[in-house]
Amino acid sequence: MRRKLVVGNWKMNGNRAANTELLAALKAAGPWVAEVAVCAPFAYLGDVAMSLQGDAMAWGAQDCSAFESGAYTGEVSAAMLAEFGCRYVINGHSERRALHAESDQLVADKAKAALAHRLTPIVCVGETLAEYEAGQTDEVVKRQLSAVIHTLGHCISQVVVAYEPVWAIGTGKTATPEQAQAVHAVLRAQLKAATAQADGMRILYGGSVKPDNATSLFSQPDIDGGLIGGASLKTADFAAICRAAG
Ligand code: PEP
Repeated sequence: MRRKLVVGNWKMNGNRAANTELLAALKAAGPWVAEVAVCAPFAYLGDVAMSLQGDAMAWGAQDCSAFESGAYTGEVSAAMLAEFGCRYVINGHSERRALHAESDQLVADKAKAALAHRLTPIVCVGETLAEYEAGQTDEVVKRQLSAVIHTLGHCISQVVVAYEPVWAIGTGKTATPEQAQAVHAVLRAQLKAATAQADGMRILYGGSVKPDNATSLFSQPDIDGGLIGGASLKTADFAAICRAAG
């Protein structure tokens, strides 16, 4: 039985006062049956760690460097994230793939660096609208996941996978539960070919998840929770989504 996981991706939003308020309200709204985490901008990780110390909610970052340390101006290492008590780190979000030209191999190398510091990578895969319309969804997500499988070997069982169709992120368009389930089943089959632990691995759905569609998405057999962008910044919405995963 996989415990559902709901992760808020704050992206580049928030400020110290608003974050403190949001986390206090979420703490008051929890705990939940599902595991819940928030992935905050680097600059706020110290504050988030202080706010959530002793709470059931976990926290994480939205990216990490593939390198251990050195002359990589602007990069933040997995070791640094571990020092701030992060449990999770998002790797390969489509915004980073698109805006920072992150390749499949770089994403895999980042996940490897995260695991080396006992962080759980949340590896994002997903097709663009053009790829979706061309019927290339399965091919694209399998290629993206394959790079991670080859780089991590048997350690692939330690990652969380997030299927996020790019056309559904921040657009208000959501994959139907059936569409999402079909892709999750493809990903689960690929994981099964790589590890005997695939049935225990969590595959999250992300892309305009809201309180009114969360229950139907999370009730699909291979959807083990969600990666939530916009709605994670609104206490009532995020709390309702966490409840829907219970
Ligand atoms: C995301 O950024 O990972 C995401 C799923 O965003 P949204 O929920 O806003 O579509």
